[in-house]
Amino acid sequence: MTTRTELPSSADVLVVGAGPAGLTLATALAQQGVDAVLVDKADGPASTSRASVVHARTLEVLRAIGVSDELVSRGVTVPRFTVRDRDRILLTVPFDDLPTDFPFTLLVPQDVTEQVLLDRLRNAGGTVHRRHEVTAVDQDPSGVTAKTADGRLIRASYVVGTDGMHSTVRERSGIAFTGDTYAQSFVLADVRLAHAGTADEVALYFAPEGVTVLAPLPGGRHRIVATVDEAPEHLTVADLQALLDARGPRTHPATVTDLVWSSRFRVHHRLADHYRAGRLFLAGDAAHVHSPAGGQGMNTGIQDALNLAAKLTEVLRDGAPATALDAYEAERRPVAEEVVAFTHRMTKIATVGNGPLRSLRNTALRALDWIPAVHRAMAMNVSELATADRG
Ligand SMILES: Cc1cc2nc3c(=O)[nH]c(=O)nc-3n(C[C@H](O)[C@H](O)[C@H](O)COP(=O)(O)OP(=O)(O)OC[C@H]3O[C@@H](n4cnc5c(N)ncnc54)[C@H](O)[C@@H]3O)c2cc1C
Repeated sequence: MTTRTELPSSADVLVVGAGPAGLTLATALAQQGVDAVLVDKADGPASTSRASVVHARTLEVLRAIGVSDELVSRGVTVPRFTVRDRDRILLTVPFDDLPTDFPFTLLVPQDVTEQVLLDRLRNAGGTVHRRHEVTAVDQDPSGVTAKTADGRLIRASYVVGTDGMHSTVRERSGIAFTGDTYAQSFVLADVRLAHAGTADEVALYFAPEGVTVLAPLPGGRHRIVATVDEAPEHLTVADLQALLDARGPRTHPATVTDLVWSSRFRVHHRLADHYRAGRLFLAGDAAHVHSPAGGQGMNTGIQDALNLAAKLTEVLRDGAPATALDAYEAERRPVAEEVVAFTHRMTKIATVGNGPLRSLRNTALRALDWIPAVHRAMAMNVSELATADRG
């Protein structure tokens, strides 16, 4: 448990929530000399792997705060995604000829990403004020007063809710979170396999029983993500082996020897109707949640944070008019809209119900796999280079 830090009573920007989006935003603001305070209700940083994919566009924008090289050195890089029916490749998504300095997908556990961001925040003189839960945000013409669970008040010019899917800032701002919840559950596990498995690709296995993703992680581990009708509360090695046996590679079957960490979750596809209500802003999961197909959740949130940091810096440090902040929603909400739509389409295609439709889908995907333009379009979308905002 961390010691509780003295909470300032005022700031130019109050950032609520120290996940990847909040850490990125607070770091960028601190580096630009903007007075920002970052609070989080939790005792300490999350210690679980969760989002493990960092895409090219995210690495490009993270260069602005100097963390991309460190992240790359802490992860493993893969040049492609493949969509497979057992051993047979249906579609390849190659990243190695993308127009970027990062022509790959980086696999790195979320707790490592957050640690790298936190180190950078501290280097810039910032910190996370932990065990402070924001329960209310009330704005007036000159600022916002935020209240914490133990009755402390913080006055700020602007408040940014990077407080995740159940965002208090979003709820208190009255912004609707429009969307739905998928029927299936997801299981998630970091495992050790008896052989290297798919060490140079992220493989998505489309099977009648559901979709299973197998991806390499640093330290010789692998990540398994799979859709199931009802996820068991406690996953076992046997459960995971059964999943891989039923859906995964056949010629060189993967044998699970060790379960390092597991979780289960339900997936929603929701988008905030607005990213701004006066002096309140939303970024990250507070603004958008979607299917993990493509691993874009955390990526989109980090990109939101850097976009918003640049605009807040223009206004608070460089004297730009407050209307400059309007561009944030205009630039970033359409990106999330596209990501939500793209991952929703992918999820529907991956989980298509009956036999004849599945055969049709597989035939169509194999035909598309002959077309270089399709490879390129898929890779640009998954890497988020296609939706890079110009902000
Ligand atoms: C089990 C699991 C598996 C996942 N797997 C994947 C995956 O494989 N791929 C992928 O792309 N994404 C995955 N995700 C989603 C990914 O973790 C999120 O997209 C990412 O963490 C969002 O970052 P964020 O900073 O927006 O919010 P979060 O990481 O949710 O951080 C929000 C922070 O706000 C704090 N907070 C909340 N309310 C308050 C308050 N009122 N006051 C103060 N602090 C508050 C919380 O303590 C938390 O630290 C997974 C999530 C879970 C839970």
